[in-house]
Amino acid sequence: MTARPVLVLNAGSSSLKYAVVRPDTGETLLGEHLERLGTDDVGAALDRLVARLAAAGIAADDLAAVGHRVVHGGDRFVAPTLVDDAVLDGLEALVPLAPLHNPPAIAGVRHALAAYPGLPQVAVFDTAYFADLPAAAATYALDREVTARLSVRRYGMHGISHEHVAGRAAAFLGRPVEELDQVVLHLGNGASAAAISGGRPVETSMGLTPLEGLVMGTRGGDVDPGVLLHLLRVGGLSVADLDDLLHHRSGLQGLSGRQDFRDLLAAVDGGDADAALAYEVCCHRLRKYVGAYLAVLGGADVVTFTAGIGENVPRVRADVLAGLEQLGIHLDATRNQVRGGPARISADDSAVTVLVVPTDEELSIARQVVALVGVSRP
Ligand code: AMP
Repeated sequence: MTARPVLVLNAGSSSLKYAVVRPDTGETLLGEHLERLGTDDVGAALDRLVARLAAAGIAADDLAAVGHRVVHGGDRFVAPTLVDDAVLDGLEALVPLAPLHNPPAIAGVRHALAAYPGLPQVAVFDTAYFADLPAAAATYALDREVTARLSVRRYGMHGISHEHVAGRAAAFLGRPVEELDQVVLHLGNGASAAAISGGRPVETSMGLTPLEGLVMGTRGGDVDPGVLLHLLRVGGLSVADLDDLLHHRSGLQGLSGRQDFRDLLAAVDGGDADAALAYEVCCHRLRKYVGAYLAVLGGADVVTFTAGIGENVPRVRADVLAGLEQLGIHLDATRNQVRGGPARISADDSAVTVLVVPTDEELSIARQVVALVGVSRP
């Protein structure tokens, strides 16, 4: 019996990826990645996707389930979850923790419930992989009464990708994931790093929200909390202004007026000083995290680059890891020209193996969905 495919929806803040995926073979029957969408376009894109499936002759009965990537599961959702009304209420309650990311996912769930009422809808959470992050890594050093009351802790995101890529890196090396200490750098429009010991994450760069950590397209990552107080107190910003600054007008966008890495690189090459600084800040931050995570792990076996930038931009990989020979990292400049992967880009004498591994969040979601609901339905 061939397994029924899963329709996977990955509705982000400004993009919609969908794919009809066979979980057993990994084959994508139909898929599309719509980028640079406004909030209103996401709804229209969902309508078009339902029409496109119908035109391709894919009916509800042909599918095993619909899987939804949901960024934030909070404390409540730490495993793939069948969506019902109570779960939808739970997802709504988490919107304040991921105001940019959870609403489009919820919109996707509602659309799919209306379009495919008979199908199981499964939410797969980007925080779930990090649910057992060690307390030392998950805890903010703030008043415990306040953090407990408001569920303030470090949750971590991009878990679907980090778990998938760590597994693929181990498979590529022919080693059990349980034996490896890994650093995974997921560098896309959103970006995060994870330190993974024996298959379990022990540290990651995103926190309560996807604002912490690395420099991203429109988010700046780590910032002295005193800066935020200063902006509120002295700068006269409202909470809404601050929210907009942190989500939309920071990171590469804030520094250079360009959020897309291809545009940024074109500007760097064109001699734009703001773009050059943005690029340097971005690489410097990454290098700091690599060093920190090597320390957290007590040295790593593997460092892996993934996602749009990690898979496609050799110069970022070279600039981030340049000069780290003392830490056992030695890139091979020719191998590093690869795009996509999986491929080894470290030199043969490098103590730490450096890889490029493509992420596939849709396949990972499809597999988690069928693990929950199975591939056949009555
Ligand atoms: P993702 O969120 O994983 O889809 O990654 C999106 C980011 O990857 C955007 O900033 C893109 O500009 C960047 N990206 C994708 N392909 C390339 C490429 N060939 N060269 C430079 N940047 C790229």
